Amino acid sequence: MQLSDSSPFGDRESQRFRGINLQEIRAEAAAAVQSMSAAGIRPGLAVVLVGNNPASEIYVRGKVKSCEEVGIYSEQHTPPATITTDELLALVADLNRRDEIDGILVQLPLPPQVDSKKILLAVDPAKDVDGFHPMNVGYLSTQRPGLVPCTPAGVMEMLERSRIKVAGQEAVVVGRSDIVGKPMAMLLLNANATVTVCHSKTRDLPAVCRRADILVAAIGRAGMITRDFVRPGATVIDVGMNRVTDAVEFATLFAGNAKREETFRAKGSTLVGDVHPEVAEIAGAVTPVPGGVGPLTIAMLMSNTVKAVKMRRGNQVVELSRT
Ligand code: NAP
Repeated sequence: MQLSDSSPFGDRESQRFRGINLQEIRAEAAAAVQSMSAAGIRPGLAVVLVGNNPASEIYVRGKVKSCEEVGIYSEQHTPPATITTDELLALVADLNRRDEIDGILVQLPLPPQVDSKKILLAVDPAKDVDGFHPMNVGYLSTQRPGLVPCTPAGVMEMLERSRIKVAGQEAVVVGRSDIVGKPMAMLLLNANATVTVCHSKTRDLPAVCRRADILVAAIGRAGMITRDFVRPGATVIDVGMNRVTDAVEFATLFAGNAKREETFRAKGSTLVGDVHPEVAEIAGAVTPVPGGVGPLTIAMLMSNTVKAVKMRRGNQVVELSRT
C-alpha cells in the first residue's frame, strides 16, 4: 500500500510522527481550551486513581501533566485500595454533579472487591472521556455523536493525519477487549474498512493477519506478531505495552540493538509492544513502542475532554466525523 510522504512511521519516520501528530493534536486541544477559557468555560478533568498500582500511577501522572500543558483544569482523587463499590459510587456521583468537571476518568484496573462495571455505568455518559459507558459504546456502533475510547480514536487520528487509506482496505484487529479491540474494529468499520477481529480462539492467526493492509495488535504479549503475520508493505499499529524483565526474552527481541541493551542493563526492564521488532523490515509502516500509540492516547484524552465540554456545555453542534 502507498504511504504518504508525511508518513510518521518506521524508525526514521517515527521522529516525524512524534513531532507532527502529537504536537498537532495537542496544539489543537490547547487552542480550543484557550478560546473556551476566554469565554469563561475552563475545561476540567477529574482523574480517580484507586490504590497504589505503579503502572496506573505512571499513566495518571502523564495524563495530569498533559492537562497542565494544554491548560485543562485537573484534579486527582486517590482513594485507598480498600474502598468499597458504594464509596466509589458516591465519589463518581459527586463528580457527575459538579458542573465545572467535564471529564471523569476512573483509572483501571480497580481492586477486586470493587464492581468495575457498576462504576463505569455510573459515570455520566456526557463526562465519560474514556468512552467506556454502554451509552457511548452504542453511539459508536450506531454512528451517532459520542465519546470514543482514546486509544482506538488515536489510531484513527494517526491513520488519517498520515493519509493512510482506510476505506476499502482489509483491516485485521488482534484483540477484542472492550477498551481497545472492539472499539478499534468499530471505528475501522465506520471508516469503511473490511474488518476482521481475532482473539485467542482464532484459527491460523498468522494467515488471517497476513490478509491485512492495516494490522492492529492489541493483545498484551511482547513481540507476538512476528514477520510471518505480516504481509509485506502492510501498515502495522502496535497498541501493546509490555514490560520485559527476563534476559532471555529480551534477547529474542532485541539482541544486537545497542540502545535497547543499554536501557535494559540500566533499568532491568524495557517496554515492548505486541509487534516483534523484525516486522519493521517488511512492514510498510509500523508504530514504535515506546513513543507510538501510548502518548497518542493521552493526547486524545485532551481532545475528548474538549469534545465533552462542547457537547455538554459548549452549546454547539459537534461534528464527529468518525463516530
Ligand atoms: P486484554 O483485555 O487483555 O485483551 C487482550 C486480547 O488479546 C483478548 O481479546 C485476547 O483474546 C487476545 N489474545 C490474547 N492472547 C492471544 C493470542 N495468543 N492470540 C490471539 N489473541 C490473543 O488487553 P487490552 O486491555 O485490550 O490491551 C491490549 C494491549 O494493549 C496490552 O498490552 C495493553 O497494555 C495495551 N494497551 C495500550 C494502550 C496505550 O495507550 N498504548 C491502551 C490500552 C491498552 P480473548 O478475548 O480470546 O481472551
